[in-house]
Amino acid sequence: MTARFRIGVDLGGTKIEAAAIDHLGVVRRRRRVATPSGNYRATIEAIAGLVAAIEQQIGETASVGIGMPGTISPSSGLVKNANSTWLIGRPLQRDLETMLGRPVRVANDANCFALSEATDGAAAGMETVFGVILGTGVGGGIAIGGRILVGANAIAGEWGHNPLPWPRPDEIPGPECYCGRSACIETFLSGPALAADHRRHGGRQLSAPEIADFAARGDAACGASLERYMDRLARGLASVINLIDPDVIVLGGGLSGISALYSQVPLLWGKYIFSDMVGTRLVPPVHGDSSGVRGAAWLWYPPQDG
Ligand SMILES: [Zn+2]
Repeated sequence: MTARFRIGVDLGGTKIEAAAIDHLGVVRRRRRVATPSGNYRATIEAIAGLVAAIEQQIGETASVGIGMPGTISPSSGLVKNANSTWLIGRPLQRDLETMLGRPVRVANDANCFALSEATDGAAAGMETVFGVILGTGVGGGIAIGGRILVGANAIAGEWGHNPLPWPRPDEIPGPECYCGRSACIETFLSGPALAADHRRHGGRQLSAPEIADFAARGDAACGASLERYMDRLARGLASVINLIDPDVIVLGGGLSGISALYSQVPLLWGKYIFSDMVGTRLVPPVHGDSSGVRGAAWLWYPPQDG
């Protein structure tokens, strides 16, 4: 397919957003609709409707990539691991290909985030990139040489349900996780986890951004909670660095707006990393919320070397 435009679709739990980007990565058209929650057929039709509406505007047939929570099981071709549970077990990719009459690429939304930032964002041109989502949940994706590392089980980069490494005595056995285990990284590093940790240490009922905000203004209890959070993030990322040794780690999701993370965490992670020096950079995202549609569009990869 030699389409000039790529259409990326970000299939979220509350909205479906679609955008057409040109070969330079400039967003030319953008549309969104509410997700028909709980209705699989209507979800497929809503995606097809967005694609058709955008193609009418741009006047050509484009490639289509989809970013979604969860992933397509390589063995069955069916959706798995999605928190939009009405998609689980459905042949989403096959049904969209039938409806749109062309091949469609589908990837996990954290993978799309990593790909977006690796293609023309905060990690543009870098060989090995780890993209982290720190939001209501914790996810991750790996891009190598400008392409997503999918993995044999389509879970590469999913570090959120590994146990928090180098646990302190008071972190054992750790909070229970919805996945059935305890002390998962997500139970310490998501936004709700930071808020819960603050309350467990006698703090007030505050959201994660409020805790960071109060900490920046000198509140001692909030400062201590943020310190604990940053040490845990440093430990979690150190284990990733020991494993894939990325050039750049890009943070995304709601907590990526906490500016202290970028200056403080690299000062903390060195003692956990098996190296005499650490060249890995920790950076904020360039594309923010747009990385969902942008990364999905870039699933149809740019030609290598022009
Ligand atoms: Zn878990």
